[in-house]
Amino acid sequence: MFRNVFGAHPDGIWAAPGRVNLIGEHTDYNDGLALPIAIPQTTLLAARRRDDGQLRLHSAQGDGRVVDLAVAELTPGVVTSWAAYPAGVVWALGEAGHRIGGADLHFDSMVPTGAGLSSSAALECVVACAYDGLYDLGLSAPELARLAQRAENAFAGVPCGIMDQMASACCTAGAALYLDVRAGVHEQVPFAPEERDLRLLIIDTRVKHDLGDGAYAALRAGCEQASSLLGLAALRDLSPSDLPRAGRMLPAHLLPLVRHIVTENARVTEAVSHLRAGRIAELGPILTAGHASLRDDYRISCAETDLAVETAIGAGALGARITGGGFGGSVIALVDDDAAETVGAAVIAAFRTHGFQAPNLFPVFPAPGARRVERAGWGGVELGP
Ligand code: ADP
Ligand code: MG
Repeated sequence: MFRNVFGAHPDGIWAAPGRVNLIGEHTDYNDGLALPIAIPQTTLLAARRRDDGQLRLHSAQGDGRVVDLAVAELTPGVVTSWAAYPAGVVWALGEAGHRIGGADLHFDSMVPTGAGLSSSAALECVVACAYDGLYDLGLSAPELARLAQRAENAFAGVPCGIMDQMASACCTAGAALYLDVRAGVHEQVPFAPEERDLRLLIIDTRVKHDLGDGAYAALRAGCEQASSLLGLAALRDLSPSDLPRAGRMLPAHLLPLVRHIVTENARVTEAVSHLRAGRIAELGPILTAGHASLRDDYRISCAETDLAVETAIGAGALGARITGGGFGGSVIALVDDDAAETVGAAVIAAFRTHGFQAPNLFPVFPAPGARRVERAGWGGVELGP
């Protein structure tokens, strides 16, 4: 496809994965804790360096047109289509003082878009990783993640935290990534559900969220308002025992937001200690408690995601929750291998009964982060654990 579009061979092929967050939702922009894994679904990028300063972008998931931009003229606001994500990374590299130029880039992705699996971070991180290779920049994985986040915040205009990009850039196979945003800590925590005869199931409800629609920004602003009313640098600084006092100091509409962040950070800590001790099944109730918090306190669930969670648990899942930014997207369920088929069938039947469109169900395992690949393909070297 690269040859068809650009009439030459690419210099190389890179891949960056989508992610699913086990626990720790909306905590990253509160300086808190999260525990994502990278998923086997990647965004592939065939790329060729250009020395004339032009950036040409084409996506198999786009409208067929090539977006042609001059690197020297990239400024926030000028690119409004999907191309803002990859062009934003090139802009961020230049802004950070890296000596970069143009490129021809062709993307093809297996990460569903707008499904809470972070296709946007996969798109950004694969560009950062390819530019690192094409221009020999020597950047570390966390540096790639920060540039990708800068692109999404300042160029694409989405005020996301750092979790998605850290997951896509820094995850490794067979592990979850423990993130402490305040401390700048990222640690691999072994996570191999298959060794315990368990499976992590994604239920993509196909309800499309749009994080750019202002809801995410409003939640973020609510958290910032609450932490400033409490005189804190971030909600990260609050522990569960502080909640009664916070309740007396905050207007009623802000307390549930604060309660979610504080209890969610505690759930990440608890989940990490279970995983470190090999007690993967103990994650189940933590996921379910996290869902209740996102549904009742943070209020980012919807009828489809609630139904998926309730039905999965009713059919024998150890735990389930909405994952990602919210307002639709995907649910994760931790299930025994033996129960996986029953759980899947129950969710599909429940969606049919409610007149919801059929969800997309698939198992995932912890996969590696952004990297150069020898050859394109969805199988073989790409998807092996
Ligand atoms: P999520 O990151 O959860 O998938 P977002 O709304 O943050 O959802 O990002 C989705 C957007 O990212 C799409 O609407 C599109 O603009 C862009 N995008 C992601 N992957 C691709 C791709 N392969 N080709 C073109 N655009 C893409
Ligand atoms: Mg996104």
